[in-house]
Amino acid sequence: MTHTKTVGTMGLAWSISVHSYGIPKNLVALAMRGSNYYIKTKNENLTISAHIEYSIYYKNLKRTTEKENFMREIEVAKITDTLERLCIEANEHLPQDVKSAILQCRALEDGEIAKNVLDNMIENYEIADREHVPVCQDTGMACVFLEIGQDVHLTGGDLREAVDEGVRRGYEKGYLRKSVVKDPVRRGNTGDNTPAMLYTEIVPGEQIRITVAPKGFGSENMSAIRMFKPSAGLEGIKDFIIETVENAGPNPCPPMVVGVGIGGTFDKAALLAKKALLRPLDSSHPDPFYAELEQEMLQKINKLGIGPQGFGGRTTALGLNIETMPTHIAGMPCAINISCHVTRHQTEVI
Ligand code: SF4
Repeated sequence: MTHTKTVGTMGLAWSISVHSYGIPKNLVALAMRGSNYYIKTKNENLTISAHIEYSIYYKNLKRTTEKENFMREIEVAKITDTLERLCIEANEHLPQDVKSAILQCRALEDGEIAKNVLDNMIENYEIADREHVPVCQDTGMACVFLEIGQDVHLTGGDLREAVDEGVRRGYEKGYLRKSVVKDPVRRGNTGDNTPAMLYTEIVPGEQIRITVAPKGFGSENMSAIRMFKPSAGLEGIKDFIIETVENAGPNPCPPMVVGVGIGGTFDKAALLAKKALLRPLDSSHPDPFYAELEQEMLQKINKLGIGPQGFGGRTTALGLNIETMPTHIAGMPCAINISCHVTRHQTEVI
């Protein structure tokens, strides 16, 4: 139910729609945060949608006091709608950093086959952009990352169901291939590409950062994890990266993107490696030690000669990103998540 009321202040009139509640009689404050608007009453905080451009305060309520008490309400339906759109956009449009890396590699290649393969890849993503078709027939498992601000209160339903509904609608509306089976051993397609692979993280703030990364399994299957003893040292990690890429060969549709996660526990290392694939290819690890390692390993990989689609050439990887975190004194987990030249992801903040 939506109520509308005109509120006058500072000589101006603001038209406000308040979902479900109407303008409360005991209104004490109205504020704007990003693209959302809030009402604070003596007893509760309400999220509203309105076309206003300034914060309006009543009864001289102090901003600091008011901010401390706010929980921003976000309806899970908004997450569903955003995911529906992002699933389609991620499958139809490669990120600009991936396109730029392919173009740079094309400029460096001198072999005829390698040049032709890269030209085909460029033409392919241009057609996908122009005609709104998927960049690849494997439209992947929908990996969904939600960074949820701790000052957000989710309303209107179950988050897990809302996420799956967004993926379901996006894959249906975008005519994207359904690639998920019900059971890992007995198989059987779920028919709607759900469930999504959902990763949630609580972060400071009052927004939700939503990322969709459709992941093909030609490359996912070539990923690896190893629990090193600390004595393996840096050389152990370097050898493992090269060994994994060599084993992958042409299977992950190179030029590939290599995500490396070092540290944490067995599962955290794998998550770090997957998150490393989301980082722009033209960025570096903030620690110069790992930034140099990224460069060194990328150069070594590109000397393997696997080349575009495995036909040989200078370009085996478009990029290599490393993510790290502290770990146990007795261990040094290392995970390598391989991705392909169709390393897709789209992000939106609500
Ligand atoms: S590995 Fe990538 S490019 Fe190859 S089929 Fe899978 S999604 Fe497509």
